[in-house]
Amino acid sequence: MSSTKTWGGEEFWGLGFEWDPQWVLNDAQKALQARLIELCAATMRDNAIESDKTYTYPRKNFEAMAELGLLGLLVPKELGGLGESHTCAAMVVETIARYGCPSTAMCYTMHLGATAAALLRHHDNARLTDILKRLDKDVLIGTLSYSDPETGSHFWYPISSKAERHGDGWKVFKKASWTTSGGFADWYIVQTTSPDFAGDYSDLSCFLIPADAVKSDPSSWDGLGLRGNQSGPIEVNGVVLPKDALVGPTGDGARSNDEAVDPFFLLCSSSCWNGIALGVIDIAKRHTTRKTHNDVGMRVADYPTIQDYVGEAIMDTNASRAFVFQMAKALDDVTNGCDWSVHTDLDALPRATLLHWMWQVKFMAAKNVAHVTDKMLHACGGTGFRPALQIERYLRDGKAGWVMGPTNEVLRQFVGKASLLGFGSLDYWNKSVNHRVLDNEIKKLDAEGRRQLAEKLLADDKQKVA
Ligand SMILES: Cc1cc2nc3c(=O)[nH]c(=O)nc-3n(C[C@H](O)[C@H](O)[C@H](O)COP(=O)(O)OP(=O)(O)OC[C@H]3O[C@@H](n4cnc5c(N)ncnc54)[C@H](O)[C@@H]3O)c2cc1C
Repeated sequence: MSSTKTWGGEEFWGLGFEWDPQWVLNDAQKALQARLIELCAATMRDNAIESDKTYTYPRKNFEAMAELGLLGLLVPKELGGLGESHTCAAMVVETIARYGCPSTAMCYTMHLGATAAALLRHHDNARLTDILKRLDKDVLIGTLSYSDPETGSHFWYPISSKAERHGDGWKVFKKASWTTSGGFADWYIVQTTSPDFAGDYSDLSCFLIPADAVKSDPSSWDGLGLRGNQSGPIEVNGVVLPKDALVGPTGDGARSNDEAVDPFFLLCSSSCWNGIALGVIDIAKRHTTRKTHNDVGMRVADYPTIQDYVGEAIMDTNASRAFVFQMAKALDDVTNGCDWSVHTDLDALPRATLLHWMWQVKFMAAKNVAHVTDKMLHACGGTGFRPALQIERYLRDGKAGWVMGPTNEVLRQFVGKASLLGFGSLDYWNKSVNHRVLDNEIKKLDAEGRRQLAEKLLADDKQKVA
């Protein structure tokens, strides 16, 4: 295998492999990476420009990826997949975002998250197993539909959704404010409150929804970047589903989040942000080494200021990549190389033990991409401001990193709060009372205020009992 990075048969014009942590990949993964870079050069990058201009969903890219077996990347070999690892998933997403199409990388991230949720609970479920076997053959794109219009980025809190028992199966109602590949995916993993929900929002269940049960309006999709992503609202309005459309047992939602959906979303979306950062560094290298100022006879890349910009961007981005690949290895280590067979035991949750590390990974990658895209724009001057150079497109795409849930505000809160006050203080489902706040507020009331509060509480209580 060549150690020179090629692009359409020529030497690649951006950073070479000497700036990539190739040592984390085995030979098969390096070969896959090389084929993927060639695919990006042949079609995926051109498709990205078209997707961005015309809001086209990147199905063409998925069709090409299916030929490399990438839709079944995580699916065990005995089910016809590539049986690959977390490390490989991180490499594939980063490669697609960097050389090909960030929108495709994000749609693929959601596909891998949905695939992970299905793999976690496919063992005795013929419906899930059938889909997993056909991912590449039939180009079956999956996605995750979690974010709720009433709870914003708190995607683990689906107030507007519910499920009911219906004969031998289920009736599912889902309202989602954002769903990548919405209206274009072939299958959706959605989360709702459980069929026997009694007011405890940690009681969540996951369902597999077929494309024809989903209402969407792709024509209304609009966004600053990731325009091929088609992350519009969707609705599932009382669709009746068979028994095995339930993914795992009822009440499995929190386990599914912590063990499958969150670890894969955080790992792969971080790889997408790193890929975008690398993509703009590549462009900046090409531009600044080719443009000359004839008055002084210097290329832009000859100015120490520009060298400093690029040097710092490479170091910051490689620190973020090192973190992603270190955590991918940690996930591989605790799962015996992403072996899904351990999950016949429903309580086997090895990835969940690393979730607070995955929060840190996403925070760093999303923070870095915003900084690096900005600095590479500065390094390329006014030419970078023009869409033709493509820095502008990557810059807009990278802006999604910070705001995608869990947002970076939420993540730094999680890490700061959990480290200072313990994990219990995170209180995802708003169940524990903060007595310090309560006592402090009550302390401010005079005697009349306390009496009115007591009367209100008693009246509320009476109403509840009645
Ligand atoms: C391109 C794109 C693709 C997406 N794809 C999907 C998808 O496939 N599936 C899916 O389920 N969702 C998806 N989302 C939704 C995403 O995960 C978030 O739910 C969404 O971006 C939140 O937007 P909002 O306006 O509701 O933010 P809000 O939640 O209203 O946030 C507004 C501000 O409040 C801050 N904030 C919120 N909660 C707290 C808190 N507890 N503490 C401190 N600050 C807080 C936020 O950080 C932010 O600064 C996507 C979003 C984007 C941009």
